[in-house]
Amino acid sequence: MSLRIVVCVKYVPDATGDRHFAEDLTVDRDDVDGLLSELDEYAVEQALQIADEADDAEITVLTIGPEDAKDALRKALSMGADKAVHVEDDDLHGTDALGTSLVLAKAIEKTGYDLVVCGMASTDGTMGVLPAMLAERLGVPQVSLLSEVSVADGTVTGRRDGDTATERLQARLPAVVSVTDQSGEARYPSFKGIMAAKKKPVTSWDLEDLEIESDEVGLEGAWTAVDGATERPARTAGTIVKDEGEGGKQLAEFLAGQKFI
Ligand SMILES: Cc1cc2nc3c(=O)[nH]c(=O)nc-3n(C[C@H](O)[C@H](O)[C@H](O)COP(=O)(O)OP(=O)(O)OC[C@H]3O[C@@H](n4cnc5c(N)ncnc54)[C@H](O)[C@@H]3O)c2cc1C
Repeated sequence: MSLRIVVCVKYVPDATGDRHFAEDLTVDRDDVDGLLSELDEYAVEQALQIADEADDAEITVLTIGPEDAKDALRKALSMGADKAVHVEDDDLHGTDALGTSLVLAKAIEKTGYDLVVCGMASTDGTMGVLPAMLAERLGVPQVSLLSEVSVADGTVTGRRDGDTATERLQARLPAVVSVTDQSGEARYPSFKGIMAAKKKPVTSWDLEDLEIESDEVGLEGAWTAVDGATERPARTAGTIVKDEGEGGKQLAEFLAGQKFI
């Protein structure tokens, strides 16, 4: 039987862009370009390698996000995933991590899965909580923060590198795993892959398709609230030390003043 892999990928605001909060303290996603979260490229890569090793496997990439989030799906499809699911609904605006995990879990169950692969964290929210929440909602084991992962005989095996120890971990499928940025470079989509991605199926679901009530998600259903947000102050020009014989001394004095030395 085919190994069904679902990879959760997030469409995030470009970190090099000018990011702002909207009046309701949510991220103003209309104002900035987005892209596939770099940390989720590692998840796609590991799923592709697992699929290569399996006799028969199918990779579905899944995202919750606005219309533009399809760009993240297209990138994952051009890397080699087989099909995509896009969950979009106006009522998702303001959804927190718990709500996001509810929607992802329902979409994963509807898709059908043996293995769910996530990144270690998104590059915007960076909470790193979704894999654990998903495993809990799906009622399956989670093996998180893996720098090496493989699947054989209905079991997922991985290596987790910590500061003091390296662990080898195993779980029976179905399971949820998350992979780190140490798991191996993500491949670049080839020209052939980019052309093929245009023809791969992308299914769109809204909350009704997933039998989720709108008050379970969005700002109304959120368990967490943002009380305030302050924009980062603009960068100042800095201090320029002109070396007229005393440059080294001035530099040392500056560093000492900042308590760096
Ligand atoms: C349209 C939209 C509006 C939102 N508005 C708000 C808001 O106003 N306030 C708020 O607190 N939160 C909001 N969220 C939720 C928030 O952006 C995060 O998705 C959520 O809180 C998870 O936290 P994180 O990004 O830190 O995920 P992490 O736990 O760091 O992510 C770990 C992994 O989970 C997977 N993952 C995470 N998010 C998604 C996703 N959307 N689709 C597919 N896979 C995913 C990826 O594999 C990722 O690597 C919104 C989300 C969406 C999609």
